Amino acid sequence: MLAFAVVHLYITDMTSGSSLSSARTPAFESPLATARAQLRRAIDQLNLTENDWNTLSTPRRILEVAVPLRRDDGRVEMYKGYRVQYSTTRGPSKGGVRFHQDIDLDETVALAMLMTWKCALTNLPYGGAKGGVAVNPKTLSLAENERLTRRYTSEILPIIGPERDIPAPDVGTDERNMAWMMDTYSVNAGYSVPGVVTGKPIVLGGSLGRTSATGDGVAIAVREALRIKGIPVEGATVAIQGFGKVGYWAARALESMGLTIVAVSDVHGGVTGSINISQLNNHVSEHGSLSGAPGAETITNTELLHLPVDVLIPAALSDAITESTASGIQAKIVVEGANAPTTPRGDEIMSDKGILVVPDILANSGGVIVSYFEWVQDKQNYFWSADEVRQNLNSIMMRSINEVAETAKAAAVTWREAANMIGVGRVAQAHRLRGLYP
Ligand code: NAD
Repeated sequence: MLAFAVVHLYITDMTSGSSLSSARTPAFESPLATARAQLRRAIDQLNLTENDWNTLSTPRRILEVAVPLRRDDGRVEMYKGYRVQYSTTRGPSKGGVRFHQDIDLDETVALAMLMTWKCALTNLPYGGAKGGVAVNPKTLSLAENERLTRRYTSEILPIIGPERDIPAPDVGTDERNMAWMMDTYSVNAGYSVPGVVTGKPIVLGGSLGRTSATGDGVAIAVREALRIKGIPVEGATVAIQGFGKVGYWAARALESMGLTIVAVSDVHGGVTGSINISQLNNHVSEHGSLSGAPGAETITNTELLHLPVDVLIPAALSDAITESTASGIQAKIVVEGANAPTTPRGDEIMSDKGILVVPDILANSGGVIVSYFEWVQDKQNYFWSADEVRQNLNSIMMRSINEVAETAKAAAVTWREAANMIGVGRVAQAHRLRGLYP
């Protein structure tokens, strides 16, 4: 039997998802309101029923936990942790673990919902989940980070597992956190369970190509969007907001495809001019941020968004492209490396300007695709070559991109709407085929 510390009833108003089809949207909505509005629109566009809305707009399981941490100096602090399993209809739930001081339950539900449509869009046999701890990991020593990760894992342990829910890295966590999570789960199980998390170090059953997978997938999305827009890949210019796991690896992959990265940024600001991605990465490893990178000009994050480039990649946090920042965007294509980087008004403004937006659930799906490969390899205890991973990633990304482009054309909708229609439609169909128990 499962024993939960605290199980929340989901109390957000489930009946308020009115159709967005007619009115212009307000300037700001929370990530959850935005995600619910996008779901409502997909349901309307697919002519699904109110029963579908009721099932699809409700997260299946929400766990909120208290995570006590003994600091190195002996003080004990309490942090809030979450794990949201939005859907398990198409398979075990799957989604990242975020360590960030600003996360809350609403945002975690929104991100778990996006994971559900993303896994369905890419046709992976998963539902969707998300979790995290409201903590700034930069304030933790390595030992504190390990204790916090292990305690969070043990608090959510009753509901995770290779057949139940499989966490992965997200903002503020990496393969080291996944190793601690895998170890904590395995110690409790009494044997090694590598398939409980993905994004692990290779020696613990991680997959070749997982570290760079999200960035590699973003680069494939950029390449295909340029092709569709008739812009040559060689020499196309790119600005990237966020120089973490997604932004950095996307920059590397795009450079190797022949594109020119003209600017990158992190939470402290950006750099432009003559920039070299490997050197910038060395600078970040040494100094913790892009600030003071030699030979580069400094720009703000907003200035980066407004550069005259072919492609803009938001690869940091939610709500980067808003009513106030969207109108200055000059890029022809926006490829969403981050989850939910665009508010509804930002989306409308970009659509009015004729910008092709490759939505998050398509553009950044490379991470969960290679996580799926890692899980499959762990289940089989048989590991693939880097080439196999790369080729399979490319073929799933290409299949999804083509499906979205064709649906957008056939239904005369944006790529975001097309992606949501495919993802939501698949989950709705799975619900209907499984039926309602009892
Ligand atoms: P990360 O923690 O490795 O890096 C985040 C980067 O964004 C850092 O460079 C940070 O300085 C920067 N940043 C933070 N706040 C910022 C701000 N206000 N303005 C500008 N830059 C800011 O995180 P990540 O794993 O690269 O994730 C980035 C985004 O991509 C998130 O939205 C995440 O959910 C999404 N994503 C990640 C993965 C993955 O595999 N890691 C997969 C899919 C989607």
